[in-house]
Amino acid sequence: QRPLAPDDGRVGGLKDVTHIIAVSSCKGGVGKSTVAVNLAYTLAQMGAKVGIFDADVYGPSLPTMVSPEVRVLIMDPETRTINPTEYEGVKLMSFGFAGQGSAIMRGPMVSGVIQQLLTSANWGKLDYLVVDFPPGTGDIQLTLCQTVQFSAAVIVTTPQKLAFVDVAKGIRMFARMAVPCAAVAENMSFFDGDDGTRYHPFGTGSGDRIKADFGIPHLVHFPILPELSAAGDGGRPLVVSDPASVPAESFMELGAIV
Ligand code: ADP
Repeated sequence: QRPLAPDDGRVGGLKDVTHIIAVSSCKGGVGKSTVAVNLAYTLAQMGAKVGIFDADVYGPSLPTMVSPEVRVLIMDPETRTINPTEYEGVKLMSFGFAGQGSAIMRGPMVSGVIQQLLTSANWGKLDYLVVDFPPGTGDIQLTLCQTVQFSAAVIVTTPQKLAFVDVAKGIRMFARMAVPCAAVAENMSFFDGDDGTRYHPFGTGSGDRIKADFGIPHLVHFPILPELSAAGDGGRPLVVSDPASVPAESFMELGAIV
């Protein structure tokens, strides 16, 4: 099923990377990249050496969410491999930094490009590489799982019942690829009114049902917060610009799980 090398795909630029974490969602727009980026910076704040690989070549969001000074990927002339760029100590790699914007390519070609970018980059010594998966459970996602052994997957979803079917699909994909699902991140779970009342505009209970039905060990709720969105648009993740914000607590919780 998974024709991985005996070293579990920790070859080339990945050989000194300890944990590779998949952050995945089945639908677009649920906040997967927001969770991936803020989780990575939280792990860095906890003292780990961290990298982010944005595996979405059709709609790379890392160059918007994180704004490093160097916005291109530089080839090391000696080794002829690519150096990731860096922001606030976290290494960053995205097709969006390759000067192409988003890609117009067919699936098999995309899989090849992703595989190459992921495995041949000079990641150096990392405790965690957070991989922001493209949405869905298709060929590209399967290729990623066949290329390296992920230590854990985080499934990002929203509380709607509608999301349940898709989440189940994602969990089954990772199970088939022998990647343990460490947590479900229920994003846009709630917001707190000025009077302290907690509102759940998209309902409740869906995350608990997922946890129970699929035996996922952890469920972490993330609030709806305009600052989270604004920070993402501004190129400085919220956990970096405001480490005392409400969502930072949830990210710490998730960081301790993975
Ligand atoms: P995906 O990676 O699933 O496509 P994004 O992380 O790009 O989703 O998020 C989609 C949009 O929703 C972005 O504009 C982002 O800033 C916003 N967003 C995500 N999570 C939250 C949240 N908890 N509160 C407010 N805005 C959010």
